[in-house]
Amino acid sequence: MNRTKIIATIGPSTANLSAIRNMHVAGLNVVRINMSHASHVEAKNILDIVKQVNKSQEHKYGPISVLIDTQGPEIRTGESNISLDLKMGQVVNLTVRDDQDVEASSIKINYKGLIDSVKKGSMITIDNGLINFKVLEKNKDNLKCKVIDGGMLGSKRHVNLPGIRVDLPSITKKDILDIKFAINEDVDFIALSFVRSASDVHELRKILDKHQSSIKIISKIENQEGLDNIHDITKASDVVMVARGDLGIETDLANLPNIQRRIMYSAAKFGKRSIVATHLLESMITNPNPTRAEVTDVANAIYEGADALMLSGETSIGSHPVRCIKLIGKIAKQTEKFRTLGYENKLIEDSDWQSLAVLGRDLAQKTDAAGIIVVTRSGTTARVMANTKPHGKTIFVFTNNIKVYRQMSLYGGVKPFYIKNISNQKALLGKINENLKPFLKQKTNRKFVFLSGIHSDKYTDSLQLINL
Ligand code: PGA
Ligand code: MN
Repeated sequence: MNRTKIIATIGPSTANLSAIRNMHVAGLNVVRINMSHASHVEAKNILDIVKQVNKSQEHKYGPISVLIDTQGPEIRTGESNISLDLKMGQVVNLTVRDDQDVEASSIKINYKGLIDSVKKGSMITIDNGLINFKVLEKNKDNLKCKVIDGGMLGSKRHVNLPGIRVDLPSITKKDILDIKFAINEDVDFIALSFVRSASDVHELRKILDKHQSSIKIISKIENQEGLDNIHDITKASDVVMVARGDLGIETDLANLPNIQRRIMYSAAKFGKRSIVATHLLESMITNPNPTRAEVTDVANAIYEGADALMLSGETSIGSHPVRCIKLIGKIAKQTEKFRTLGYENKLIEDSDWQSLAVLGRDLAQKTDAAGIIVVTRSGTTARVMANTKPHGKTIFVFTNNIKVYRQMSLYGGVKPFYIKNISNQKALLGKINENLKPFLKQKTNRKFVFLSGIHSDKYTDSLQLINL
């Protein structure tokens, strides 16, 4: 089994049973629903499909878990039936008005604070850097702008104001509705977009706590402010995501590889999961094969110790979603033969439990154990073990908590198993043996490091070496 997990965004190309099933067989671990695009009805349809796949399929790669990605304080152009052909040097009107009388040649922007936010000379970027404007003149409800880079402008396109703090709440009214939807549907992860500080994460945590939800929080680092507060944000989150799409516009693109490493380092240091997102296999939206640079980019994210890699357009609107999943699996298999860059060695051992896990990893390595077995109720023991990123040793996690079982789909190096009763060690060992049979068949070595986080009258939490 590979250490690296795979997240796929579902969209028109893949919002059906056979596509999700085929991607799961190819190695898909997490389904992402992007609330910038999906309605609740569409999201519900995807959730039903995932449930069906999880029920019917043999879980070679574990179950599929679900990630709901919020829109966040995102600015977009208005809805429009026609595309505007924007030519370099042309002067256009960007308006914050939203009424019928806006002339067809004006570009509507859904952010009332736009005029106050920008200055004469500010840059405005649409569609992730495809179209760029420079502000020439500020008026009461519109901006006169020069087209620096032209192109076809479609409907509801993503707008960036590079380096400018957008004066919108971190969790918008729409986000609250989507978060409540996610809680009701009992999804596994919520991704918070454009996280700027730890307090944004606390705000979501408060909502989750109020509803007694154990949904894990993914903080998307998408701009300079998020980057400036990376340590505090990481500490407050369960998972951090290098959201390279927006980061590449909001910060210096030439510095993006270093920014990626900084975020990955922070996740490793504070013992949190990490995701690298956007443009991993972008050319495969249309082409059957990737560029050489894309293959290398995927491998580099794996060297950095990413728990998971996220596909966006490749699987939502692309022509080769299954090929993309298979390809990441193949690259991971080759790349994971080599050691990571070792960020996990800087892991802060902030609990005895974490120290025990580090010892467990080292023990597995020194004694050349066949793997590591973890028994956990809350998932904590699995998390502290995943933090150590054992080289070439799968972490087999046994849990009696169905939510923990699913959430393990995002944990690098973890193969999860759900078993109803884990409080009797003898019966548990029988179950472990049974579940690991296919794995043990290929091995002559049956020695495992065993880390259990279960206190009961039958046994206590401990680190052991066992033979199965
Ligand atoms: P998005 O986030 O796809 O929701 O924009 C990811 C990114 O910005 O890279
Ligand atoms: Mn983004």
